[in-house]
Amino acid sequence: MQTEHRTILVVDDSRVVLNMVKKSLFNCSEINADIVTAESYEQTKTLIKHHNFQVAVLDVTLPDAQNGEVIDLLIAQNVPVIVLTGGINHASKNVILQKDIVEYITKSNPQSLNYIVTSVKRVLHNYDSYVLVVDDSKSVRNQTRKNLEKLHVHVIEASSAQEAIDILHTSKHYIPLVVTDYEMPNMNGMELTLELRQSYAKDRLAIIALSGTEDSHIATKFIRHGANDFINKAYTYEEFAVRINVNLELVDLFRQGKETASKDFLTGLYNRRFFFESGVPILQKARRKKIFTAVAMIDIDHFKNINDTYGHDVGDIAIKEVANILHKFLRTSDLISRFGGEEFCILLEDISLEDLQEKFNQIREAFEKNIITKKNISLSYTVSIGLIYCIGNRLEEMITLSDKALYEAKESGRNQVVIHTNV
Ligand code: GH3
Ligand code: MG
Ligand code: MG
Ligand code: MG
Repeated sequence: MQTEHRTILVVDDSRVVLNMVKKSLFNCSEINADIVTAESYEQTKTLIKHHNFQVAVLDVTLPDAQNGEVIDLLIAQNVPVIVLTGGINHASKNVILQKDIVEYITKSNPQSLNYIVTSVKRVLHNYDSYVLVVDDSKSVRNQTRKNLEKLHVHVIEASSAQEAIDILHTSKHYIPLVVTDYEMPNMNGMELTLELRQSYAKDRLAIIALSGTEDSHIATKFIRHGANDFINKAYTYEEFAVRINVNLELVDLFRQGKETASKDFLTGLYNRRFFFESGVPILQKARRKKIFTAVAMIDIDHFKNINDTYGHDVGDIAIKEVANILHKFLRTSDLISRFGGEEFCILLEDISLEDLQEKFNQIREAFEKNIITKKNISLSYTVSIGLIYCIGNRLEEMITLSDKALYEAKESGRNQVVIHTNV
């Protein structure tokens, strides 16, 4: 889901702590960022001249700046700060908590590494999250925007319920959260919530109502109408931040769950089930519009030899490499799946026969030239590819036909591309 390049700063005067934090962040598969470390205030000062950090994990006491000066340094750069402390006295804790920090984590807590990872993940995720603020008052929208921007999310504004509906339906960005006012002319926040729930379930879109009303029934009514949460306009920033983050987190978790269910664990490619689920409607549409589609079946040649010679672990590395190579040559619109052990199936639409031929010959060659060097060994392998290029066929038929082409590629010596077509 992460789109842009990210860099994380970790500052601590203990090298042991630095390495532990670095390792935990590095091992989290959802965090895909560079990690830069510093051991002193001066070193940090130099680093911020050369890097653009998206989040910082900072120790409070450094040999050359013992009173949390490094926190102010990063806050002044508008970098979200997660504070890491040893046991410090209450007075300084309160000073730190008054600063605009994301989280305050005590090193002595056995869960502290997990907290750091979760916090960093949340902050990085916010950079890619869009929040829609609906309010008829410009000044309230501004205030809400300011508070949201402190969480580093993107803010979109709507001055009426109708505008909000239009934005949600047409935005090219994925919007996981709406923060709406209650009293607005024409359609109020509650009516908006009801309307949005017709198209968006709670696990796709979180809705938070934000109202100045003194009437305590309004909150309950909002929740009954499908809102996830209710915040009174007299909120403290801390309360606001926590509720926004919790609700964003919830939608993310549901989304991740769905993604996990559709993907193959080893390669991160779509699994067979998802391939059929999405492939069938794609082909229905293609038949109606009378456009050509192709199915490619790719199978590693003599893969058993790799397992037998180098072991199953290296076999797994070889399988993962297929995903890397395919991503280099295929478009994001191509449906790439791991079909079985060392067999991969791809559905492509909107491509000419010439391009198809050229592309899969390039892929075959890329495997032939590729050398994997891991664990003191280097190995290479080839693949055989069977393709069907046609119009009007069903998915099952196309798979059978591409399988036949693959069989021919294997029979005629492997490391070959065979294309069948009904043109
Ligand atoms: P051919 O050129 O005819 O395709 O020969 P091959 O050896 O590649 O094909 P075969 O179907 O005989 O063997 C496939 C092997 O792939 C057998 C199986 O143990 C292995 N395999 C299947 N899934 C995995 C996996 O996830 N990891 C590893 N390491 N091996 C796997
Ligand atoms: Mg209003
Ligand atoms: Mg094989
Ligand atoms: Mg096979």
